[in-house]
Amino acid sequence: MIEGRTGAWEVVIGLEVHAQVIAEAKLFSGAATAFGAAPNSQVSTVDAAFPGMLPVLNRHCVEQAVRTGLGLDAAINLVSVFARKNYFYPDLPAGYQISQYEQPLVGHGQVSLDLPDGSTRTVGITRLHLEQDAGKSLHDQHPRDTYVDLNRAGIGLMEIVSEPDLRSGEEAGLYLRKLRSILRYLGTCDGNMEEGSLRCDCNVSVRRPGEPYGTRCEIKNLNSVRFAMQAIDYEARRQIELIEGGGTVAQETRLFDTARGVTRPMRSKEHDYDYRYFPDPDLLPLILDPDWVAQMRAELPELPDAKRARFVSQYGLPPADAMVLVTERATADYFETLAKGRDAKAAANWVIGDLFGALNRKGMTIEHSPVAAAQLGALIDLIADGTISGRIAKDVFAEMVETGADPGAIVAAKGLRQVTDAGAIEAAVDAALAAHPAQVAQYAANPKVLGFFVGQVMKATGGKANPALVNELLRRKLGG
Ligand code: ADP
Ligand code: MG
Repeated sequence: MIEGRTGAWEVVIGLEVHAQVIAEAKLFSGAATAFGAAPNSQVSTVDAAFPGMLPVLNRHCVEQAVRTGLGLDAAINLVSVFARKNYFYPDLPAGYQISQYEQPLVGHGQVSLDLPDGSTRTVGITRLHLEQDAGKSLHDQHPRDTYVDLNRAGIGLMEIVSEPDLRSGEEAGLYLRKLRSILRYLGTCDGNMEEGSLRCDCNVSVRRPGEPYGTRCEIKNLNSVRFAMQAIDYEARRQIELIEGGGTVAQETRLFDTARGVTRPMRSKEHDYDYRYFPDPDLLPLILDPDWVAQMRAELPELPDAKRARFVSQYGLPPADAMVLVTERATADYFETLAKGRDAKAAANWVIGDLFGALNRKGMTIEHSPVAAAQLGALIDLIADGTISGRIAKDVFAEMVETGADPGAIVAAKGLRQVTDAGAIEAAVDAALAAHPAQVAQYAANPKVLGFFVGQVMKATGGKANPALVNELLRRKLGG
């Protein structure tokens, strides 16, 4: 809800997400799909629309789309139809894109969002269909001319359309992150927004609470979650100010200017009839075997929501910790290796706190973590069996991050073993008390002085004294 000059407004958002299918070949040709290849080095005669070339459907892309549909809890349509969507653009050599229109591969589904206040919200999925990507026009290679790179032309995309169920930029951000997480778990899209494998069009309208939906604008091609959220927030305010100033919203397509943080008009909304859709005569209807679909359903991996619920029940983790751990499958796997036979909460703390911090600083992902789960596990074991203190463990961990060495080796080489010998600790305690008679005298009136002495003893023992023993001895000697 947004408070305008004349009262409250509700923002209504529906997203159209284009997710690039993970597949080695394109949707209707055998050309490669690798990112970053030299321009026009991955183009077949089909992608370049040479006369007489015929599309051949890539079975793996269909599998990926069906798997995604199942992961979105959606209905799989056993009969679907590829259609031509006709429009002229320099990077679309055929003059049409092969897409699906009236009969998409996947029907209604849902995604569940976890809102910051702890509640959940279900967002409806309207449909998912398969279509080809277009090529790319390059405007920055020549002062006058535009070049065309067709490497992307014909790569398989899944267009995932949501119902207008989202109510703020923040919710749209949660939806995109959740969707990305599910796609990555399924292995059907890498979700890499910087490389353009996940792009999003945001439809935004505003209305008075309880009234019918207002006229929407569509903001095209947002390539980061943050930009999508910013664009939606800006657009909602723009529409509210427009209506409150006596104007009306025109249905149109807009672009987000990331440098200025504003949306501006790109073109008036095109209508479906502009595209003159018709079934592609080069392709038969796509008919799926229900047993094949059932088998894929049976082989689905455990998805983030189910995994989070299991982490809470099996490991007794707080839901917030479980949520962070399940966002990426690799993190969840790392945690489970670490937690096996150990204190699960301690394992979660190390992953979420120290490990994430180190990976962030180094700009690394957990797949390439310099500290393997088995090594971090060995470190936790050294704390649990009293070999080192929790304090020293932080130093050992920092060293592990830098060198990749095993914690046992670091502890041995640097002599970091915890001192649990009461005699040695007592000597350090006595020395500290003797060196600071004034603080000793303060103790009766100010018991906080104990902390000062703990610090002194730790300093004298290089942080290696067993903290429980130090506390106990100090209390006894100070007469507390
Ligand atoms: P089109 O085919 O013109 O793109 P769709 O019916 O496919 O229109 O809707 C596209 C997207 O717009 C969907 O994600 C849908 O949820 C969203 N949408 C539809 N109506 C509204 C509205 N009034 N406000 C915000 N989003 C909307
Ligand atoms: Mg649409």
